[in-house]
Amino acid sequence: MSPTAVFPASTVLGYPRIGPRRELKRALESYWAGRSTRAELDRVGAELRERTWRRLAELGLDGLPSNTFSLYDHVLDTAVLLGAVPKRYRDAADPYFAMARGTEELAPLRMTKWFDTNYHYIVPEIGPETVFELDAAKPLGEVREARALGYETRPVVVGPVTFLLLGGALDRLDDVLGPYEELLAALAAEGVAWVQLDEPALVGDRTPEELDAVRRAYERLGAVTARPALLVAAPYGDLGEALPVLAGTPVEAVGLDLVRGGVPAVDLTSKTVVAGVVSGRDVWRTSQERALAALAAVRASRVTVSTSCSLLHVPYTLAAEPGLDPALKERLAFAEEKVAEVVALAAADRPAAGRIPEVSVPPAAPVALEERGPYAVRAAAQLTLPPLPTTTIGSFPQTGELRAARAAVLAGTLPQADYEQRVEAEIERVIRLQERLGLDVLVHGEPERNDMVQYFAEHLDGFAVTGNGWVQSYGSRCTRPPILHGDVARPAPITVRWATYAQSLTDRPVKGMLTGPVTIVAWSFVRDDLPLRDVVFQVADAIRDEVRDLEAAGVRIIQVDEPALRELLPLRRAAQSDYLEWAVAAYRRATSGASDHTQIHTHLCYSDADQILAAIDGLDADVTTIESARSGGRILGSVPGFGRGLGPGVYDIHSPRVPAVDEVEALLRRTVEALPVERVWVNPDCGLKTRTYEEVEASLTNVITATRRLRAEL
Ligand code: GLN
Ligand code: ZN
Repeated sequence: MSPTAVFPASTVLGYPRIGPRRELKRALESYWAGRSTRAELDRVGAELRERTWRRLAELGLDGLPSNTFSLYDHVLDTAVLLGAVPKRYRDAADPYFAMARGTEELAPLRMTKWFDTNYHYIVPEIGPETVFELDAAKPLGEVREARALGYETRPVVVGPVTFLLLGGALDRLDDVLGPYEELLAALAAEGVAWVQLDEPALVGDRTPEELDAVRRAYERLGAVTARPALLVAAPYGDLGEALPVLAGTPVEAVGLDLVRGGVPAVDLTSKTVVAGVVSGRDVWRTSQERALAALAAVRASRVTVSTSCSLLHVPYTLAAEPGLDPALKERLAFAEEKVAEVVALAAADRPAAGRIPEVSVPPAAPVALEERGPYAVRAAAQLTLPPLPTTTIGSFPQTGELRAARAAVLAGTLPQADYEQRVEAEIERVIRLQERLGLDVLVHGEPERNDMVQYFAEHLDGFAVTGNGWVQSYGSRCTRPPILHGDVARPAPITVRWATYAQSLTDRPVKGMLTGPVTIVAWSFVRDDLPLRDVVFQVADAIRDEVRDLEAAGVRIIQVDEPALRELLPLRRAAQSDYLEWAVAAYRRATSGASDHTQIHTHLCYSDADQILAAIDGLDADVTTIESARSGGRILGSVPGFGRGLGPGVYDIHSPRVPAVDEVEALLRRTVEALPVERVWVNPDCGLKTRTYEEVEASLTNVITATRRLRAEL
């Protein structure tokens, strides 16, 4: 017998969890530093959950989710839920954080980007030896915790197909379904009416075998005798051919992303549709007219109102932004305001089904590609360096003093000139450190930047920045995405003064350091009244101005980072080549302002670079640095055909671990086996901003020692 519970009229698929004032970040960092206990950390977690449920209820939402909180990552939570904890972590003092962050002895699990968002999840490690075993303490605990506060909730869990696809182990479907069945039974015994299984993997292209796995999974879960009603939610796009498959299974409700995906033609009259008409991916107010028309157009037994995805990707509330221009604020909605929109839409009268008004976006303007000379010509014109040149990715540790100084300038208690002096002092320290360590290509360390995107947004027209608009990126790390709301232009040079100051201190080359147009746009909330491509080109033109000015100021190496190139890649293959074509063109437009004797570097990380290697090659940068150490050199199998300088990282900067000389040496040996030695650069996986000076000094010393060992053999 299937459950008969009626789905609430309004809900959200998930909610931010870092805390309106980043309380979780502080609690985590204090626990990791040994300044507080696990019990204290758990108390902060409980407070945040309580606050979220209370706030959602106050705003009038009826369907409250639970288990959307996480101490680090909800995919890692799912691995723990299913017993997929690799053996080597089980004896660690805190296995959960050992998997997330590593320990002295253990490297952490791999981490990568969650679909096309800037959120990073921990990749489940599933092998033939993995024994799935239910540990339902967390979802059950949250249900009870909410109930004690007077709230009935709908636990949210990553669904079996997505979980296994993320772990590359869909062949284990039959084994993993056991614990899912037990979970459903346990939740039913607890009196839970609805459970939400998130299946974002279903909005990408899926093979017939994968679609068959979807059918088998939900046939089996649907057949559990005593279970809650099932909502399968598919955020971040259109379910396409997976929708009829799901519709044929006994699940009671489907969550559709009606912002990115269209209203489906599939007949869902035996299902509830949880209609995601309020975007969880942007900060714009919802058009009531469009949302109501979409709600009216869905053919289902019941249509309730929701967000297109979890609200994890937007800041908590506009109420924390007194500094924003009121005219702009009128156009905006953060998480709380979006919840209010969901509630209002659920209460509004729906029109008779009719046409959904189109958003009018003008067609993209044509763009011409400008060219630099061929690589061989450029390489001959550029500066000569020792074999296996060593460099870093740009940032050095951001000290608390500098962050405090920036806050003091904002508060008006520190004069700008004093602040700038401190930045210069920091640049000098970084230059001297690099000289002492023996690096070949130096950086200024980016001490003046709060963030690689926000810093540029603050200096470009067309952007607004928030005071408290933090969004979780991974674990305790958050970013404050700028809001790109108007036409972009660069009123004045941005980085030239710091770059030239750094170069004035040393004879070694100092790289100028810029963020690329795709990344600036990917890590901002972007206006939706222009094609994305045109917005990216506007930013490319601003960066091009900066490249020209750096070159004119005598900077001979300029790095233009594009760590987000992979992130904006459409989830469906059919749309990917068009995107890659304009993204690459935008990068070349930004960098082709440089002449042949200027060496252009680019940097990408967490990009699953192997998937878009041809596009990365297409950027035509003279040197490309990419993540490699964190994923154990996996990328090395795909790079032999790469045409120009390449620096696969030899030091995983995401963990506090200092890599041993032998470890770096081993990875570097594998690198020079995979690539012609004259093309290899030696560098960390990414910037050093999140590390301490102590860790950086020790790690870079080992990197240099390993490099010298290899050089001695050349
Ligand atoms: N230049 C930047 C830094 O070093 C690059 C950061 C990134 O790739 N995310 O911090
Ligand atoms: Zn990086």
